[in-house]
Amino acid sequence: MTDVVSTALGGPEPPEPPKQSPEPVQLPPSIVVNDLRAAYGRIEVLHGVDLVVPPGSVFALLGPNGAGKSTLLKVINGRMRPTSGEVLVGEVPVGKSPTEKLVKSGLCAIPEGRGIFPNLTVRENLRIWTYRGGITMKDVEDRTFTTFPRLKDRRRQMAGTLSGGEQQMLAISRALVTGPKVLLLDELSMGLAPLIVNELYELVGTLAQQGMTILLVEQFVTTALSVATRAAIMVHGRIEQEGSPREMADAALSVYLA
Ligand code: ATP
Repeated sequence: MTDVVSTALGGPEPPEPPKQSPEPVQLPPSIVVNDLRAAYGRIEVLHGVDLVVPPGSVFALLGPNGAGKSTLLKVINGRMRPTSGEVLVGEVPVGKSPTEKLVKSGLCAIPEGRGIFPNLTVRENLRIWTYRGGITMKDVEDRTFTTFPRLKDRRRQMAGTLSGGEQQMLAISRALVTGPKVLLLDELSMGLAPLIVNELYELVGTLAQQGMTILLVEQFVTTALSVATRAAIMVHGRIEQEGSPREMADAALSVYLA
């Protein structure tokens, strides 16, 4: 008796074909750093950094003052040449490609000290972000002012005369409106009141949910780890430990207290 007949007669159901579990999609890492060395003059400050930032992660880079965190971000962003080693953003090798290609790879950096034009007004700063094309001034203003209504009241003010928090809001609007794939954030909290820091990090969480990969450097360990999905601790120009935010919370305590 065939299976069809036996089923029709109320016999045992034919076994279901085994379900094929879909292959997990392996996206390439968003940032890869291999054995990176960098120096200011003759003084080497990165002594062989290895780091892999997975796509879609919020990666917190922690470490004491002077560890080399900002320097690492500068090299990843193409603003500083390494002495040796390699950095890839997506598939683009940094330092060997024109800056334009790096920008096209979807990289956006918000450096320590904000990276805005202090002698331009808020609106003029916003206008600059439309120059890459694909986004109108109206879109830029709508998105920025909906997220940060305070900036709307200040749109004609010179960016350099904004409060620290407002300057940081303006800086982070760039990521909001240009929608980069990879965002580098250096000390978002610098000089800001805790309430504003929390507000900005909530926004970082929202950007991450939209699929942005974020590498952030932050002094406030608890704040950084509250949004991070992965973290590492840098000490004396090397990555000393890497792991989950929980693991790195304990590790940071011992490094910072050492
Ligand atoms: P912090 O948390 O204090 O910002 P960091 O971990 O970001 O520190 P870096 O700013 O990368 O550390 O500095 C690493 C080392 O390089 C420090 O010893 C610093 O003094 C030195 N350094 C940074 N910038 C320069 C520069 N422009 N010229 C010379 N030395 C520099």
